[in-house]
Amino acid sequence: MIWTELESELAALADKHLLRTRKTLESGCNTHMMVSGKSLLAFCSNDYLGLASHPLIGQAICDAVKRWGTGSGGSHVVNGHMLPHQQLEEALADFVGADRALYYSTGYMANIGVVPTLVGRGDAVFADRLNHASLIDAVQLSRAEHRRYAHKDMAQLEKMLAASDAKRKLILTDAVFSMDGDIAPLKELFDLAERYDAWLVLDDAHGFGVLGLEGRGSLSHFGMPFHPRMVYVGTLGKAAGVSGAFVAGASTVIEYLMQRSRSYIFTTASSPIIASALLTALELIKTGESRRKQLRALSQCLRDGLSGTAWQLLPSSTAIHPVVVGGNEAVLKVSKALMDSGIWVPAIRPPTVPQGAARLRISLSASHTLDDVKRLTDALREIE
Ligand SMILES: *Cc1c(COP(=O)(O)O)cnc(C)c1O
Repeated sequence: MIWTELESELAALADKHLLRTRKTLESGCNTHMMVSGKSLLAFCSNDYLGLASHPLIGQAICDAVKRWGTGSGGSHVVNGHMLPHQQLEEALADFVGADRALYYSTGYMANIGVVPTLVGRGDAVFADRLNHASLIDAVQLSRAEHRRYAHKDMAQLEKMLAASDAKRKLILTDAVFSMDGDIAPLKELFDLAERYDAWLVLDDAHGFGVLGLEGRGSLSHFGMPFHPRMVYVGTLGKAAGVSGAFVAGASTVIEYLMQRSRSYIFTTASSPIIASALLTALELIKTGESRRKQLRALSQCLRDGLSGTAWQLLPSSTAIHPVVVGGNEAVLKVSKALMDSGIWVPAIRPPTVPQGAARLRISLSASHTLDDVKRLTDALREIE
């Protein structure tokens, strides 16, 4: 029977310790989360600035619902584009220093909207091997040739670009790698894009709000101005604490996306109350230097707390701090041991990370205290 195949595939996943499970949270996203009546100290969210539970954003939603109701009622290109969406796009473009921005419902949709709109059959995408799954899917959807270079290997990328006779070329990378926490060499990538007349598409899901002046993101981190060949994707469900994403770039690029990008056009605009909430979140990001400072202090505390132990952190200047354990079963064991002491650090396994590189992904939030981090490092030292 056609469905029994699924049963055996599920059983095979379980054998390989690759089954995913969900926990049902009985509290909101914060540094402590209630699961099955138990409060866990959590290092698992992407709520890097602690905005997911910020009362001012909640208030913005309450105010907005009175004026705008709940639903947008249609696509942005028909009747779903309301004043808060427009204001948000303008504020986002201004914030990251681009001509214009387009607001998408999620980062996944932004990515699958951008890549297939800019390239297609006969073109080539040059992608970092550790790119996020949504970027991989975006390339497949585009039907362009998918050339993957070793993580941050600019020499290999250059060789591929030089050898390519594709009509259009597009370099595609996470700006901050989601499971490693390191930053892509944006200056070198831009130089190569210039030399080979390629698009440079940056997915800054983990840099927006965290890196750069006032949290303006990875380009600001490197002091790089916008350029017409750059397309910047920022997501709004991580540091911004709400949901959604935006694509920023030159006016022509954004106009073209608005006309052609299928995941922008053929979907209902997200609720105007979300856009209103994001306007407040953006203000909190801008004025949130103390939160970013706290993040840096917490990161240092984590490094100090684990130095000299078997728990080797990958180098990271962001809020993401992975500890590579290796095997799937081994990482699950560590994660479970932490859970037994009331601490939630997720075990990240293939296909999210390469085979044999399963890891704990410790993510910090500005709402954590130094004591929270100390509890984690003490617990890891216990398990060691
Ligand atoms: C989370 C993430 C996305 C997807 O964004 P959503 O808004 O969650 O859909 C895209 N790219 C990267 C690198 C991410 O980490």
